[in-house]
Amino acid sequence: MRASDLVGCRYRLRQRRAHPETPELPDALIRQPQIDAARAAVFELLPVKRALGDGAGKAFVRVDIDPAGDRVADTRAALRRRAHLITNAALAGEVDGVPAEADVDVLVRTERGYMPVVISNHRVARPHPDEHLEMVPTGRLGLGQPIRVGAKVRHHTVDGYRVAMAHLLLGELADGRAGVIGQDRTRAYLCDPARFVESLTRVLAAELPDEPKRLKQCAACRFWPLCEPRLVELDDISLLLPGGRGDVWRERGIHTVQQLIDEAPPEPAALARAWRAGVPVLRRPGVAAAAAQAVPRADVEVDVDMEAYLDQGAYLWGTFDGVDYRPFVTWDEVGGAAEEENFAAFWSWLMARRASAHAEGKTFRAYCYAAGGENHWLRSSARRFSSVDEAEVAAFISSDEWVDVFAHVRRSLVGTDGLGLKVLGPVVGFEWEDDDVDGERSVALRRAARLGDQAARDMLLRYNEDDCRATRAVRDFLAAGAPGIPVLGEV
Ligand code: SF4
Repeated sequence: MRASDLVGCRYRLRQRRAHPETPELPDALIRQPQIDAARAAVFELLPVKRALGDGAGKAFVRVDIDPAGDRVADTRAALRRRAHLITNAALAGEVDGVPAEADVDVLVRTERGYMPVVISNHRVARPHPDEHLEMVPTGRLGLGQPIRVGAKVRHHTVDGYRVAMAHLLLGELADGRAGVIGQDRTRAYLCDPARFVESLTRVLAAELPDEPKRLKQCAACRFWPLCEPRLVELDDISLLLPGGRGDVWRERGIHTVQQLIDEAPPEPAALARAWRAGVPVLRRPGVAAAAAQAVPRADVEVDVDMEAYLDQGAYLWGTFDGVDYRPFVTWDEVGGAAEEENFAAFWSWLMARRASAHAEGKTFRAYCYAAGGENHWLRSSARRFSSVDEAEVAAFISSDEWVDVFAHVRRSLVGTDGLGLKVLGPVVGFEWEDDDVDGERSVALRRAARLGDQAARDMLLRYNEDDCRATRAVRDFLAAGAPGIPVLGEV
């Protein structure tokens, strides 16, 4: 049992044990070089000897364990040697009677024992004026004392389990503290692994499920070809209601789609029937075709779609005016001058389009699909960058000229798999040029684009353009009365 087996789907461990031969999916293989690169970058920063001020005459032992060897045995040997730094370490033993293994990127000897340090691809802390964390620069691990810095921790369950597992497996050798190196590879933030022990042992003690349950992560799981037929055989309710969405029915003894059809109240039963019939989108009962036209139109219309890089900044504001797609994009690092310049260019273009429409006596509206992300980055950009007037942005967001198409769709329609743009697109006859670029893939593409990869840049722009055009296509479809969409309950 590893920490990664304890988050997300717990059935995966059963599948991994039963079908170890199942190959990784291409996306996971693409991720591995990134993980390896992160580890290599950290190992490069770690000290190999003492600096002058550290008593250069004293011994400093760093052991880099061969990933292809017997890492557990080699780690034990390095611990016996009392090495100061052990990279690529692996610990094995039992935690609460459960056989457990922990990959520990770095084991650091301190005056108290050994401190596990893990490398995470998450952002693990962010600067903060009032909160403080202890931090050791990566280049001083094994040599320097922690320093207090103004930062606030960002907790990620899997990182917590990793350090807690390593802490427990170290037993009496444990220092009692642990470190996590996040996206800023130069800093190891210290934490108290004991904080995560209680929830770790609770999850460890929980029985593994006997059957699969569809979750969001199934879409990117190598075991889906094995789980899906079983779910179909079981007619499991998670086929229609993934994750926790089916719990409310399971609590009432409803476990299958057929039971939902037979026993649930009219609306969920009708939705289940539609799903069974392969109908993804339905019109809400009582909503006449004309009501679907309620998305307000304007003489000058612009569809907007934004792409952000993690929580660090928005690098692409795409616009489509019905004729031309115009992206405002920066391939430089976000969070600074490049992002500000790009956002200001987008904003002034949008406001200029609006002003010229008004000057000609025309109405103007900008649209997006599910405005949460756009609104967040509109507000955040205006707040962070002084070149754009925050009040002007806030006034625009709350005006009738900024329209969330999704809010209108939700009033008129209901979907068996939600009403996301990717669900609606095919229903209204829109096709994306590229396959779905999910969050993780878009992060990888953005990284490649930053490094100058033209194919990645083209793909991100193409995808953004298609999202803008799809938003427009959905609006046009609604304006046409959502033709061909059956009424919920009539399928
Ligand atoms: S396909 Fe889904 S249910 Fe099956 S192991 Fe993967 S995540 Fe779990």
